[in-house]
Amino acid sequence: MIIVMRAEATKEQLDDVVQGIKDLGYQAHVIFGSNCNVIGTVGDERHKHKLQSLEAFEGVEKVVPILKPFKLAGRELKKESSQVKINDKLSVGGKQLVIMSGPCSVESEEQIVATAKVVAKLGAHVLRGGAFKPRTSPYSFQGLEEQGLKFLKTASEETGLPFITEIMNPRDIDVICKYADILQIGARNMQNFSLLKEIGACKKPVFLKRGMSSTINEFLMSAEYIMAHGNERVILCERGIRTFEDATRFTLDLNAIPVVKRFSHLPIFVDPSHGTGHWYYVNALARAGIAVGADGLMVEVHLDPAKAASDGAQSLSEKNFAALMSDIKPFIQAAGRTL
Ligand code: PEP
Ligand code: MN
Repeated sequence: MIIVMRAEATKEQLDDVVQGIKDLGYQAHVIFGSNCNVIGTVGDERHKHKLQSLEAFEGVEKVVPILKPFKLAGRELKKESSQVKINDKLSVGGKQLVIMSGPCSVESEEQIVATAKVVAKLGAHVLRGGAFKPRTSPYSFQGLEEQGLKFLKTASEETGLPFITEIMNPRDIDVICKYADILQIGARNMQNFSLLKEIGACKKPVFLKRGMSSTINEFLMSAEYIMAHGNERVILCERGIRTFEDATRFTLDLNAIPVVKRFSHLPIFVDPSHGTGHWYYVNALARAGIAVGADGLMVEVHLDPAKAASDGAQSLSEKNFAALMSDIKPFIQAAGRTL
């Protein structure tokens, strides 16, 4: 339910309503608006009619149901687009288009430091690199784990770029939170509900990638899990879905960007690297992602793609990443954004 407060309602009246919501066993999420304040309630759907009684509280204008199943992630409750602050200098979801790039996997200290320097020089805002890797084969490189996190931290300190890395297992939350600035939940774990719930309790920004076989509705419900468990700093990422098409690794679902923007206030990125699986298409899909309204791009970069431990075929070399950073400029401007 959404409790809409009267424009002239006092702080005490708002606090009373929040207490009334809690007394009924629901969570209250206050959204402070320029016109009036609203309170979103979340909790047991079966007894939500009880919340109708809050209409009797002083200062309440009306009580209306939230129709979509994603209550906190949806725009019904929060009309303005959200910004997720990464650090004092960087925010996602505002006018600035944010570029996250780096290798698929961290392979060595030299590799991640050198790559971080290159992507920083070319204008990336966030360094990416996997230390815990979800691989289709158990015989493939699985990542350097904590050692990889330490190398990422060194690279981050040397360049000033915050870094993002993937978390696959709730048991790794503490160690990853110790080092990382942003936690990535990969496509294969989008519906790992135990992980989503535990991540909710942690206060770092979360970058949630869409599952390759998930609908947009399911994607937003996964964001809802994280938010309902206490972490509202969620950034979404479209990274391609499985279709009958086999000319590319996945089919980048660009429809998802305007659809998500319509129904959710959360920022959304495009990942043209996993979305296509081939470096040759990454530049075009990066431009397309910006054109359809993405808030940022996640792009895999490797200084020697032929020798990459994972995803070499879709990784951009320094030269190709430099070309991308230059080619996206007119699209950024046309989208009314800055770099
Ligand atoms: C990755 O970012 O390297 C990755 C494994 O992505 P996804 O979960 O989208 O496959
Ligand atoms: Mn990858």
